[in-house]
Amino acid sequence: MTNNLKLDGRPYSFKHHEMQIAIASDQHPHKVVTKCSQVGLTELELRLVAAIAAVTRSRIIYVLPSARFSEKVSADRFYPILKDSPLLFSMLHTNVKSAAMRKIGNSTVYFVGASTDSQAISIPATHLIIDEENFCDAEVLGKFNSRLRHAAEDPVTGLRGVRQRFSTPTIPKYGVSKQYDASDMKKYHVKCKKCNTWQIPSYYKDYVIPGYDGEIALFSAQDLTHPTYLVDKAYVKCQKCGTDLWASLMDPDCRQWVAEKPSIIDLSGYQVSPIDVPFYNKIPSIFKQLEGYTKQDHRNFVVGLAHEDANNSFLMSIFDNTEMSHFISLLNAARTTLSNIRIGVDIGKTSHIVVLQKRSNNSLWVLHLATLVSAPGRTIASLVQVYIDVFKPDMTVVDAGPDFSTSQTLIHDNQYGTVFGCEYRRSVPEAYSYIELKDEDGVVKADRSGVLSTVMELHNKAKIHYPDGSEVQVLKEHLEVTKKVVRKGEMGDVVTFPKPTQPDHYAHALAYAVIADMAADKEDYLGQPVGVLPSISGVTIGSKVQQ
Ligand SMILES: [Zn+2]
Repeated sequence: MTNNLKLDGRPYSFKHHEMQIAIASDQHPHKVVTKCSQVGLTELELRLVAAIAAVTRSRIIYVLPSARFSEKVSADRFYPILKDSPLLFSMLHTNVKSAAMRKIGNSTVYFVGASTDSQAISIPATHLIIDEENFCDAEVLGKFNSRLRHAAEDPVTGLRGVRQRFSTPTIPKYGVSKQYDASDMKKYHVKCKKCNTWQIPSYYKDYVIPGYDGEIALFSAQDLTHPTYLVDKAYVKCQKCGTDLWASLMDPDCRQWVAEKPSIIDLSGYQVSPIDVPFYNKIPSIFKQLEGYTKQDHRNFVVGLAHEDANNSFLMSIFDNTEMSHFISLLNAARTTLSNIRIGVDIGKTSHIVVLQKRSNNSLWVLHLATLVSAPGRTIASLVQVYIDVFKPDMTVVDAGPDFSTSQTLIHDNQYGTVFGCEYRRSVPEAYSYIELKDEDGVVKADRSGVLSTVMELHNKAKIHYPDGSEVQVLKEHLEVTKKVVRKGEMGDVVTFPKPTQPDHYAHALAYAVIADMAADKEDYLGQPVGVLPSISGVTIGSKVQQ
């Protein structure tokens, strides 16, 4: 690659990007890289694709989050690589004019997008390269993954085809972070020139701003102008002797990729930090970029770390003040004055019910939680009917997704307009609400991400009050795995809640109960919609090297 490829007219070199050498020469068929911006990995990957296409007979699918973005990368970044190399350019079939497809020698490279409206590509492939996986649509990616089913088997690992996925991380245990956790987990260690200790510096523990002795996690954009915090003198310290590691970070002889789990052989994983390309990522600039980025984007794009906070997760600390004594008095009072009750039911193999009471300040009190299991002669509808008879809710919303017979039965057996079957949608036509009621059909259509965002915000603002008890522990586990993911789409940010691998039923039962409240008290959710989409920040997807 260094022989036949050129960058700006000069032969391609790994100078200042030495960490890329191991990634480029790694022959493992399945690779995953989590990375920050400004480390040149898209450029590297495009060069590798060009080299593979030239010397083999391959069908390579190069995936980016959208088709438009993918074709732009093909035209603005891939084509110039070919043009700068007389050898590659002579192999390019110039009669193929499409940026979505390049033919080089005996190979074809397809540049495709993985967004919800992507055209599925039906050709079998030998290579699948996924760039910015965390911002791609997971369902569409699944279809691309199946394109490798007929690829040749790797003689060592038995894996089919070449699959490389790399991306900026978003939240922990999602996308490339989840993949990386399942890999051999290589990190680019550094050896302190002074005390010879090998280590992996931590952003939170080993970055130092002279004059600032608070936690680095709390250092924010406002602190950048503080007169006694010497951000320009920020450095990374050795974990053993405390010395400034800069000279060691810059010296390739003091750097080495080390696998944390070398026994894992079916997935090769790399985590790239800004200090792994220190020439382009000086320590003060890592902090200075707090300005102009949200905290989430700063951790993901600048520091290269997965991050979660109240914007994308249910805070578990809310459960530290579950309130049993309040509930006993409330239940006593409620025996005579049951009012403003909403019920939400998630239907599944086991079904889950949440009974809420709307109280002052728009607070929502969870009065009861239960797991419902049907048995011969005892349907879920009959079980839910017991709760309706006892609690007398103004509004009950039942999951109509997998099985609408339960919601149909309950709609027929109860007063008109008090029970609705809920269908999740990607979005609903009403601009100021996440739900649309169809009274005559007993159907409520709800924007899944909008409603879950609202529930997350109500929870994180402590607007939802939980009782004590073992069933709340189950609910807690279900909320903990429910994560919001924001992808940059062509029309702005796209918010999704990917289906977790662990159970999340109570998150949805709670969401249905909140939908019941939205339907009963529509005005509480009008005007100032909660759970609005996060603001679009000026983030460039894909790594690029600042010159
Ligand atoms: Zn040291």
